[in-house]
Amino acid sequence: MVVVMKERATEAQIDAVIARLIELGMDVHRSSGATRTVLGVVGDGKVDKEMIELLDGVHEVLRISAPYKRASRSYRPEDTVVTIDDVRIGGDEVIVMAGPCSAETEEQCQASAAAVKRAGAKVLRGGAFKPRSSPYSFQGLGEHGLQMLRRAADAHNLKLISEVMDVSQIPLIDQYCDIFQVGARNMQNFTLLRELGHARKPVLLKRGISATIEEWLLSAEYILSGGNNEVILCERGIRTFETATRNTFDISAVPVVKKLSHLPIIADPSHGAGRRDMVAQLARAAVAVGADGLLIEVHHDPDHALSDGAQSMFPSQFDRLMAELRIIAPAIGRSICLEPVARRGWAR
Ligand code: PEP
Ligand code: MN
Repeated sequence: MVVVMKERATEAQIDAVIARLIELGMDVHRSSGATRTVLGVVGDGKVDKEMIELLDGVHEVLRISAPYKRASRSYRPEDTVVTIDDVRIGGDEVIVMAGPCSAETEEQCQASAAAVKRAGAKVLRGGAFKPRSSPYSFQGLGEHGLQMLRRAADAHNLKLISEVMDVSQIPLIDQYCDIFQVGARNMQNFTLLRELGHARKPVLLKRGISATIEEWLLSAEYILSGGNNEVILCERGIRTFETATRNTFDISAVPVVKKLSHLPIIADPSHGAGRRDMVAQLARAAVAVGADGLLIEVHHDPDHALSDGAQSMFPSQFDRLMAELRIIAPAIGRSICLEPVARRGWAR
């Protein structure tokens, strides 16, 4: 941290600021120029910048180091790879997680899992506890949904990711899933994040609807500081003044996070766009910009989905997207599941 004193700060004011910083346990290095005094402060992790700015004679306080530690690139220069058996998230391969927004029926889970597996996805997604804006909307099927998703994932040799909304759901979801998903609305549920810091499974942490990248990385820090190093970040669009799409998909978050952090980052263009006719474009862009994977909503019958139908792709659209990603990924030095597991024609 650097404390810049006002041009006309008195010696007494400078001494008082130094004394206060030392009292707070800091090391202070003073340098006085012709017009201003600047104080270099070391060990400022817990000091409230605004409190120092309020002291008499202080012009400005600047933070030099990031407020998060374990999530930062400087703490760990090499990329973190989250490994679940043969699925490696954050390595060379672009990992695609796909499936319905919510688990609805046995048939739907099986059909969606079969479709995404055939196209090359490695992880089945599906919600059993749904954070809906309205309490009257479909809230998910709870444990029954998890059971159907697990059966579908196992039947098609897929890993499973599902959302955890509350601390009380952790043990149950842990029984069925390979990855815990923390949704956008819960990015700052610090009690939940702390508890997931003790989980022995990877956590996919979505960016909050109005969260800055720094706030997002601080949320990751909650999980990391609890001892769980397996955090995957997920950009899913943020709320801006733009209303043409459900959210504004922040494509630049991918390279920014890559620079600031060693954690893998994947992209969710489904919630970013909010409509299925724009998901493929954003997905292609996300891979091109360096995302380590994608989280995509695919439904065997999206027009009858109980949640997020408008943004859920038809299996045929997902097939096409995966074929396009097989061209884009190698162009930027990444790999992706090489061939569809089986070729077949879909009605749409
Ligand atoms: C979801 O993945 O279905 C979901 C609810 O996502 P988000 O938390 O990004 O809104
Ligand atoms: Mn959804």
